[in-house]
Amino acid sequence: MKLIPHWIDGSAVSTTDGRSLPVYDPATGQQQAAVAAATEADVRAAVRAAAAAFPGWRGTGLSRRAEVMFRFRELVDANRKEIAGLISAEHGKTVADALGELARGIENIEFAAGAPALLKGGFTEQASTGVDVYSIRQPLGVVAGITPFNFPAMVPLWMLCTALVAGNTFVLKPSEKDPSVSLLLADLLHQAGVPAGAFNVVQGDRVAVEALLADPDVAAVSFVGSTPVARHIYETATKAGKRVQALGGAKNHMVVLPDADVGAAADAAISAGYGSAGERCMAVSVVVAVGSVADPLVDAIAARIAGIRVGPASDPDAEMGPLISREHRDRVAGYLAGGGGDVVVDGRTAPVAQGPGFFLGPSLVDNVATDSGYYTDEIFGPVLSVVRVDTYDEAVRLVNANPYGNGTAIFTRDGGAARRFQYDAVCGMVGINVPIPVPVAYYSFGGWKSSLFGDLHMYGPEGLEFYTRTKVVTSRWPDPSTSRVDLGFPEVR
Ligand code: NAD
Repeated sequence: MKLIPHWIDGSAVSTTDGRSLPVYDPATGQQQAAVAAATEADVRAAVRAAAAAFPGWRGTGLSRRAEVMFRFRELVDANRKEIAGLISAEHGKTVADALGELARGIENIEFAAGAPALLKGGFTEQASTGVDVYSIRQPLGVVAGITPFNFPAMVPLWMLCTALVAGNTFVLKPSEKDPSVSLLLADLLHQAGVPAGAFNVVQGDRVAVEALLADPDVAAVSFVGSTPVARHIYETATKAGKRVQALGGAKNHMVVLPDADVGAAADAAISAGYGSAGERCMAVSVVVAVGSVADPLVDAIAARIAGIRVGPASDPDAEMGPLISREHRDRVAGYLAGGGGDVVVDGRTAPVAQGPGFFLGPSLVDNVATDSGYYTDEIFGPVLSVVRVDTYDEAVRLVNANPYGNGTAIFTRDGGAARRFQYDAVCGMVGINVPIPVPVAYYSFGGWKSSLFGDLHMYGPEGLEFYTRTKVVTSRWPDPSTSRVDLGFPEVR
């Protein structure tokens, strides 16, 4: 059985105590590899390597660090097919979807290559007579990234590019479910000129995570994953004095007003609800149908479901793949057995759902009650719920009362209503006739409420802010002939 190793101090290494975890092929349900599971000693070795590399990497000129990002971008671009193949093999998503994820990740490398312009400080000449004041931004030191299974390339790229270009060194703990991409990224970073120790990968589970959270040499932690773990990471790491941004789960509502184009709204609901088998933090999981649009919209979505081709990534015509694990598929399917809504399309009856592999067909549930599991839980699978309301105000109340606040979207032809929604929605990312409003890399990504613990969003300008701290220097170069003793409190003169 192939063993997927760690990447510490510039080379692949295995675990000190030999513990490993299974990695499955979700399309067949068979174990295809094992991944090393880091011990505390492995994590310590990675952090020590990162700490040792920090002074040299921080001292490397900013333009040189940006040049490394340019080279990294070229290498990732040249390896798109291989990276997408690895994503599909372990995650199960289609190759087209994997290529899309990678494209969004590459945007972050491009942003990082241009980051020197954004790392400029401020300068005030003659703040007082003969005194200049200026601010500089400095890296934090060793930073850690802990990432989820659903975007094994994009989410690490959200973090590591910005962190590295700012002069930090990095320890990545990828998801144990699809760990191989992280090693290919490590190799490409190495080829691009990131020195040994500046980027490390520790594979494994919560043992590795807890060791990172407890390590005094880790200055900051970026996390993306489910809300209970995000909350735990935030509470534990901030208590240990670390800077933390912890992005959690989601329940994204797509509000469809009566004046919307029903066909376009149905296309969007299908794409955002079932793309990547619903395993996206920006997936639409609730369609809020306002007034008269509900009947034609549910009919249009149901009609389109029949045309979705579900299958393995090796099938070039497949549009939706399997779920990540057997347990997760069974958990998602379990919702369809309970009450709380009218099941219009039951994915359990789809031929692929009979096995092999962790497949479930797309499911549609109408008239969902807001106190049922369909609505209250992040299902994270291909189950689209429809909640019917009478008015725009009711729809907004629903969006805003939900404990999650990652993304939301409105579908309408009324610009005034859309603008009102953008103002009203208590949510970090809003789409107007755009179902998955993932911001481009020069903005930042993050939700509100239980979708984010911390203050700064991920990547873009807020990412740079997260990975640097500001120092303000007040400077005087006096003419010795004017120097005198003055015990008074320094005033601006
Ligand atoms: P997860 O929370 O189970 O795992 C995320 C990471 O935390 C993994 O590296 C995992 O090994 C580690 N981990 C898991 N349990 C842990 C524990 N008890 N203690 C310490 N570490 C632990 O999430 P997942 O299933 O890999 O990913 C799906 C979740 O991620 C969904 O909830 C989804 O909404 C969320 N997500 C959010 C965003 C966002 O930007 N907000 C993006 C992608 C995914």
